[in-house]
Amino acid sequence: MLTLESVTAGYGESTVLRDVSFTVGEGDVVALLGPNGAGKTTLLRTATGFVKPRSGRIAFRGDDVTGRPPHEFARRGVCHLPEGRGIFPSLTVKENLTIQARGRERDEAIAEATRLFPVLGDRLRQTAGSLSGGEQQMLALSRAYLTRPKLVVVDEASLGLAPLIVDKIYDALARLVEEGMSLVIVEQYVNKALALANTVYILSRGEVVHTGEAGELDTGEIYERYLGID
Ligand code: ATP
Repeated sequence: MLTLESVTAGYGESTVLRDVSFTVGEGDVVALLGPNGAGKTTLLRTATGFVKPRSGRIAFRGDDVTGRPPHEFARRGVCHLPEGRGIFPSLTVKENLTIQARGRERDEAIAEATRLFPVLGDRLRQTAGSLSGGEQQMLALSRAYLTRPKLVVVDEASLGLAPLIVDKIYDALARLVEEGMSLVIVEQYVNKALALANTVYILSRGEVVHTGEAGELDTGEIYERYLGID
């Protein structure tokens, strides 16, 4: 579905990703792991058009999309859920859910979102910025879900959230997978990500140092070898 081939990318003078090759297949859930500063967020931003590769190639469903802008990735069905969540804090929950919808679609959007996360139904008139962190993440995920993307790229979905809320977020991510969406997950709760993922990539200092099936990973070894501070 999405392929990065020997991608090098960075910011200004600094190179963050070095010769990174990365593939997400149809229906895949990829856990992208690595220590702080390894380049995980940069890889997600490159995979969604926000950072342009300096060299290498990006293809989505067979089309070359190297260097295309983020809105073109979005139009093709690549949805980016950034760490800052990507909601409109001063708009109400209802407005956040219906901003892209018209007429009857609005009611359907609200019904779908509240099926995914019932708590949002009690918060429709509240501004998104006044929601708890977990509720904001649920709203962000609902917004992503409503656009029916083919690939959802999730950066630190559970950052700062209580374990019970993290479980809810992961239940919802599992629903997206059931609906046929592919996922790339960057996650500090490694075990959570690995429970959902079928494939794992480990990034260290901007290079892919391990790739394989999630089920085959020895998490103890992973922590020891790769997830320290770079
Ligand atoms: P973390 O787990 O800490 O979020 P990460 O693996 O997601 O880290 P990135 O956020 O991709 O890593 O950062 C990789 C490197 O790129 C870091 O050295 C960081 O300082 C640098 N970097 C990130 N964003 C920018 C930017 N906008 N401008 C310049 N350098 C940046």
